[in-house]
Amino acid sequence: MKVLVLNSGSSSIKFQLFAVATWRAIAAGAVSRIGEDEGEVSYRWTDPQGHSRTDETRLPIPNHRDGIERIVAGLQAGGVLADLSELAAIGHRVVHGGERFQRPTLVDDAVVEAIRDMIPLAPLHNPANLDGIEVARTLFPGVPSVAVFDTAFHQTMPSTAYRYAIPEYLYLKHRVRRYGFHGTSHQYVGERAAAVLGKPFDRCNLITLHLGNGASATAIRAGRSIDTSMGMTPLEGLVMGTRCGDLDPAILFYTAEQLGLDNQALDDLLNRQSGLLGLCGVNDMREIHRLAAEGDDRAELAIAITARRIRKYIGAYYAELGRVDAIVFTGGIGENDAEVRHRACAGLENLGIALDDSANLSADRGERAISAAHSQVKILVIPTNEELAIARQALAAVGGG
Ligand code: AMP
Repeated sequence: MKVLVLNSGSSSIKFQLFAVATWRAIAAGAVSRIGEDEGEVSYRWTDPQGHSRTDETRLPIPNHRDGIERIVAGLQAGGVLADLSELAAIGHRVVHGGERFQRPTLVDDAVVEAIRDMIPLAPLHNPANLDGIEVARTLFPGVPSVAVFDTAFHQTMPSTAYRYAIPEYLYLKHRVRRYGFHGTSHQYVGERAAAVLGKPFDRCNLITLHLGNGASATAIRAGRSIDTSMGMTPLEGLVMGTRCGDLDPAILFYTAEQLGLDNQALDDLLNRQSGLLGLCGVNDMREIHRLAAEGDDRAELAIAITARRIRKYIGAYYAELGRVDAIVFTGGIGENDAEVRHRACAGLENLGIALDDSANLSADRGERAISAAHSQVKILVIPTNEELAIARQALAAVGGG
């Protein structure tokens, strides 16, 4: 049996195919530049003889339907999917599940409508996610589709964490509240951290830090999210590649008035021109370190602000949790950037948080502890694997696994 995972964006579809027996990804790739003059389909897969293969084709891909047809045709041509009946489920990443979806959900017509109803909350993401779901249901009616929501894990937050101090009707009538995102990743690394600690997840208190181009922190008490840094949208919280994170909301009125910006321009300013990019002109953390090492003050400041914001959330979530078993770093920066990890944990020794510098700097990959032996709070690096988590949850939702 196999599970296909689809992550449909507005102009791309990423996919991975998992063999249930081993939970290995036997094929992965992406269709990109959908709707443009020239699109691209790229695959990596392991052929039945066990050899790694790659393939890249450039051709116009007019729409998501064509994209998904090509993905499946390619999997069949590569010999990794002999027949559609091998697919136990298709797991779809869906960004926003609002308050309605608290767990991965088998898709039927009512679920499609409910995801559509969430479009105002995630106007960029949910329409593309829905496109992928509808195409898959039309093309492969015999294969169950499961929606796995980025927001679902955070639905356990108490109202004290998810409500904003603004008039109540904005929540009741307009659904304005904190939802949080990256939930699949926070849950996955949390569960892996529990395994590394040798404790059941539902007895672990954790601070999970997903630090990539998008970034968020989550406080997990007894295996459940009780607070997270992203808000009604993914804009709030930590400093990100191009998103500002926490901000005085009055900056919006001021900037709109001073620069004559409309809503769209403000959205672009805070979502696509801010964060690391806004601070130093570059959004790739590796490049920012290179610039800082050459003496670029703006790059140095961008790293310092990023790390300070992370440390602030560690402190805040420590206070909320009272007792913390482990701090978990994940995402492109969390997994690879020893300097940011070092700065984020610096000065927290009195809270029982102490890094082992050589473990932190080591070139090891994979799940590992980087805390000093005397650190009360373990510090872990756990590579995230959202696709694997989606595949497992999709199978569980159809009664397998
Ligand atoms: P993600 O969105 O999780 O793929 O993470 C992307 C971010 O991780 C980018 O800012 C990358 O520059 C950063 N990143 C990836 N590898 C490294 C590395 N070895 N050191 C520092 N940052 C890295």
